[in-house]
Amino acid sequence: MENTYELVVGLEVHAELSTKTKIFCSCSTEFGAEPNTQICPVCTAMPGALPVLNEKVVEYAVKAGLATNCTISKNSKNDRKNYFYPDTPKSYQISQFDKPLCENGYIEIEDDFGNPKKVRILRIHIEEDAAKLNHNEYTGGTLVDLNRSGVPLIEIVSEPDIRSSAEADRYLKKLKSILQYIDVSDCKMEEGSFRADVNVSIHKKDEPFGTRCEMKNMSSFKSIQRAIDYEKSRQINEVEHGNTIVQETLRWDDFEGKTFQMRDKEDAEDYRYFPEPDLVAIKLSDDYIENIRNSLPEMPESRKKRYIEELGLSEKDANFLTSSKAYSDIFEEAGNICKNYKAVCNWLNSDIARILNEKELEPEKIPFSAEYLAKLVELIDKGTISSSIGKKVLDELFENPRDPKSIIEEKGWIQISDENSIKNVVLKILEENQQSVSDYKAGKDRALGFLVGQAMKETKGKANPKMLNEIFLNELKK
Ligand code: ADP
Ligand code: ZN
Ligand code: MG
Repeated sequence: MENTYELVVGLEVHAELSTKTKIFCSCSTEFGAEPNTQICPVCTAMPGALPVLNEKVVEYAVKAGLATNCTISKNSKNDRKNYFYPDTPKSYQISQFDKPLCENGYIEIEDDFGNPKKVRILRIHIEEDAAKLNHNEYTGGTLVDLNRSGVPLIEIVSEPDIRSSAEADRYLKKLKSILQYIDVSDCKMEEGSFRADVNVSIHKKDEPFGTRCEMKNMSSFKSIQRAIDYEKSRQINEVEHGNTIVQETLRWDDFEGKTFQMRDKEDAEDYRYFPEPDLVAIKLSDDYIENIRNSLPEMPESRKKRYIEELGLSEKDANFLTSSKAYSDIFEEAGNICKNYKAVCNWLNSDIARILNEKELEPEKIPFSAEYLAKLVELIDKGTISSSIGKKVLDELFENPRDPKSIIEEKGWIQISDENSIKNVVLKILEENQQSVSDYKAGKDRALGFLVGQAMKETKGKANPKMLNEIFLNELKK
């Protein structure tokens, strides 16, 4: 039954721009300050206070537009979006309505069959963030923190081109990585600087699109995927029971694994948009736009090409590294120090990715520096430690980042490469395992692996594995 229905998803992403100051005043945008300490008459809507547009906001938004293949409007403007709610002291939000800065772009992702697919971008516009409402569970009251009021946002609106929750996930991750590459947003989801409104509908393939339901302000990739899958089945179930889907705003409850109705959906006319009279129109010259285009940094596609052609990595490795700017940056920095790019890549795509996954951390959260990763690689390359000790060093780097050299000294993990010491261990193990010795001599090669394993155990993984093997072979020949 499910197969006859197709899922349709469109995403509206809000990303906080990493400008130093707010969009219409010079208050700081720094996250985490004491409530209501980064405010002024403009962002608290004192009568008579007038906004002045921060030029950096325009520059960052244009950058985002160019990086997502948009056309940049040379004539753009701001509009008032009116609504009454305690998070907006002016009772309107300054946004952009019919003349957004950027239009008609696309982001390329992979579809569920691994083929390239373009998700079209309808528009990117600039607007101000609202204040943060802190609900107090104990007293039941709500406190308003205006520090966030006036923090610059871009809203990136996709066309309804996404057809599965996995595609939505790839689109969001790609978009996040693009914004990070061009350095216009830190996209810290846990601080709310990258959040999505998720629009979901279903229809039968030969019929028009169904009515969409919207889940606002979602900021976890996992929850977004779960919420889309849940909504798809819920809507199919409704339709199958002869009910109609009504346009509404839903709330996803991660604990219950369900959506709940919040309110009927407002339409654009409810906001009574009109041009913002306190700001001038935004007029951009060709030169201005071209200068920004020329200042764009190297994008993932070009880094990928370089990794394959110049550093000899496989396409799979290059894809992995460039999937996140954090991986790509630490890879290049560590590789430039130790010159063993392949080894750095292997640490990142195996053990480091696994640990991040277990801890549910994003790659930006790698707690140690590229320098430490490079040192870890060098210690193994020089034979100071074995790769199995390397894994223990990595665990330490995650727990309490410090110089790998100090870690191995402190823990006594330096590899034993002294021939006499290793020979003593070998002789002891041979003495204790006569049966394995006879097995080996009777042609059972596997017995050697067992003996080496015992010697490694004896030395707590510190014996130089190459020397250990050679000395065993020598002794067994006797
Ligand atoms: P609003 O702000 O009222 O939600 P927007 O035009 O800003 O309206 O955003 C609409 C979003 O909904 C877009 O991302 C669009 O792709 C998506 N959308 C539109 N129609 C559908 C549909 N039938 N199913 C799923 N998503 C849709
Ligand atoms: Zn201010
Ligand atoms: Mg919406």
